[in-house]
Amino acid sequence: METHLFRCLSDNYGVLVHDPDSGETASIDVPEEAAVRKALADTGWTLTHIFITHHHADHIGGLAALKGPDVTVIGPRKDEARIPGLDILVHEGDSVVFGGERVMVFETPGHTSGHVTYWMPESGLVFAGDTLFAMGCGRLFEGTPADMWASLSKIAALPPQTKVFCGHEYTLSNARFAVTADPTNAALKARLAEVEKKTAAGIPTVPTTVGEELATNPFVRANTPEVAAAMGMPGASPEKVLAEVRARKDSF
Ligand SMILES: [Zn+2]
Repeated sequence: METHLFRCLSDNYGVLVHDPDSGETASIDVPEEAAVRKALADTGWTLTHIFITHHHADHIGGLAALKGPDVTVIGPRKDEARIPGLDILVHEGDSVVFGGERVMVFETPGHTSGHVTYWMPESGLVFAGDTLFAMGCGRLFEGTPADMWASLSKIAALPPQTKVFCGHEYTLSNARFAVTADPTNAALKARLAEVEKKTAAGIPTVPTTVGEELATNPFVRANTPEVAAAMGMPGASPEKVLAEVRARKDSF
């Protein structure tokens, strides 16, 4: 699989996934029509599939315009009523074939109740929407810290080299917060320095990898003694630690 990442709206990422053998091309979420059409024109790829992670407007804004008779739209069954135009409804454990490859579906509630994440095990790609960000996680609009912990744990359990595509470029602000939530983490300090350089140069910090997040993401690391201690909660459950990390990030 080939991927093409592009910026759109204020801080969203869009990504196209292309299988050269079959010619099939998927857009993971469709933040806005014009940006997706430009990405298709830039690559010369023809849209055949749209995978939707969740119902927020900055992820489905281009859906009505981009959906056509030759485009299959896959999205969360739980959000059927909130996302018009879904052709294939998916939930936990489902898989869809795209470009001859299996795409596995995880339900990852927390940011929204219906959020799903798509994993392509053969290509080692995961599309996490607004669940997992580089050194961050989505705000808990429709779920509990326990929901988010369970969701992040599903992604964290994937092979460490898996590339993680997420919905936004929030990495620098996430990294600046993360060093306060995990202050003794040398890998995290090094990553902050690297992200500062990349951001100053206008280079995307996405995709990340599962392994990098296990090493540096304070939400994924809510089960470590280091993050629990930094929250002043030694011995607390990861759900409780994540709740505190999230609360502090919300007002950072
Ligand atoms: Zn969202």
